[in-house]
Amino acid sequence: MAIHKSRRDFLKAASAAALFPMPALAQGAGPKVVVIGGGFAGASAARFVKKANSAIGVTLVEASPTFTACPFSNGVIAGLRPLSAQQFNYQKLGDAGITLAFQTSTGVDAQAKSVTLSGGTRLPYDRLVIAPGIDLRWDGLPGYDQRAAEIMPHAWKAGEQTLLLRSQLESMEDGGTVVISAPANPFRCPPGPYERASLIAYYLKTRKPKSKLIILDAKDAFSKQRLFQNAWAALYPNHLEWVSLSKGGKVNAVDAATKTLKTDFNDYKADVANVIPPQRAAAIAQTAGVADRSGWCPVDPVSFESKLVPNIHVIGDAAIMGAMPKSAFSANAQAKVCADAIAKLLGGGTPGEPRLINTCYSLVAPDYGITVAGVYKPTDGVLADIQGAGGVSPIEAPQATRALEAQLADGWFKTITAEVFG
Ligand SMILES: Cc1cc2nc3c(=O)[nH]c(=O)nc-3n(C[C@H](O)[C@H](O)[C@H](O)COP(=O)(O)OP(=O)(O)OC[C@H]3O[C@@H](n4cnc5c(N)ncnc54)[C@H](O)[C@@H]3O)c2cc1C
Repeated sequence: MAIHKSRRDFLKAASAAALFPMPALAQGAGPKVVVIGGGFAGASAARFVKKANSAIGVTLVEASPTFTACPFSNGVIAGLRPLSAQQFNYQKLGDAGITLAFQTSTGVDAQAKSVTLSGGTRLPYDRLVIAPGIDLRWDGLPGYDQRAAEIMPHAWKAGEQTLLLRSQLESMEDGGTVVISAPANPFRCPPGPYERASLIAYYLKTRKPKSKLIILDAKDAFSKQRLFQNAWAALYPNHLEWVSLSKGGKVNAVDAATKTLKTDFNDYKADVANVIPPQRAAAIAQTAGVADRSGWCPVDPVSFESKLVPNIHVIGDAAIMGAMPKSAFSANAQAKVCADAIAKLLGGGTPGEPRLINTCYSLVAPDYGITVAGVYKPTDGVLADIQGAGGVSPIEAPQATRALEAQLADGWFKTITAEVFG
């Protein structure tokens, strides 16, 4: 009886919502900035636009009231931390005067300068920031679709997929084979697959020592390669194998029913398969017309305004940022530059030429961290490396240095999440 009643109530509420779209959200009387996506890019942009000028009405549109962060989620997969350590809410952004709309944005009308939400609300904007992160290309790898991902998780968006891969590793018998398929560039977090492989190898070595992990790669080179490979040789000689593109590592198709990954030379049968497929800017960027044929969004490297649609800025993983990698660190740095540019543009000013920094930490083991850093500036319409300004961790270093870098990685995650969500 109670079930029938609540179902009837739900149907009544649903039909009422269809008849009467949600009331307009309070956007304030000043200039209006709408931000789509409350990740490292979008939540930071919302915060810093508001900080730059509190008279600007800032609305953050985010599909989920809980944000689950990818950085450090490889630690969850390896059993080193709980998923709850990855999760954050938006209460402090609300306290800072940002209007929060926990809905999916389904459309952008660039002519009318408005955003449509799943509940039917239309939000007018003077400047729009699109920061929706990535979507997986379900058409990018034959055999790999949403159903296959329930058997061969990608875990490239943190949350249920992270837990699925974790539980598969836990259930695997000692002596099993884990296979990771790493995509060609560009993709979210260039060192991510190799950090993941390292931490899974650590789990296997310490908990299931007869098991092994194989990385099948669509590339011949990857981020921090020498540092990773030296560490693997020292820490996981019997547990981790990397098969490069030229050694036949590119996965051309998968068969979820048999957990098989197919390359030109071999079929690899996995006990646990982690398939990281090709990616593109998330759907709303395609819908809004800010993505080009590559699937990513070209932007002006000074203001991050779209090169395709005026008054829309794209930041974070969805954007083409030249030499700057798709990382949370980059997304946060771009957000600050973008927020400053928007505040200036709305005030009739001109954005200054920025310099941006990225640092990507990776853990090879819980007490073994390595780093790559870069500094970037606008050059010939893109963000280019400032030669000699960045670098990687020393190739030869005592364990104490690696342990210190692992601590710095932990400190970075705490700092960035406190800045964005705290
Ligand atoms: C395993 C792994 C490890 C990583 N480790 C690191 C690391 O150590 N350091 C580092 O710097 N980076 C790391 N990264 C990369 C980092 O997670 C991303 O670069 C970063 O999250 C990009 O930020 P973003 O804001 O562009 O996208 P996201 O953080 O993905 O945020 C996008 C948000 O937009 C929302 N959204 C999307 N579409 C809509 C819509 N239509 N309407 C409303 N909301 C929408 C989503 O719900 C999401 O909350 C890692 C990534 C992975 C996968």
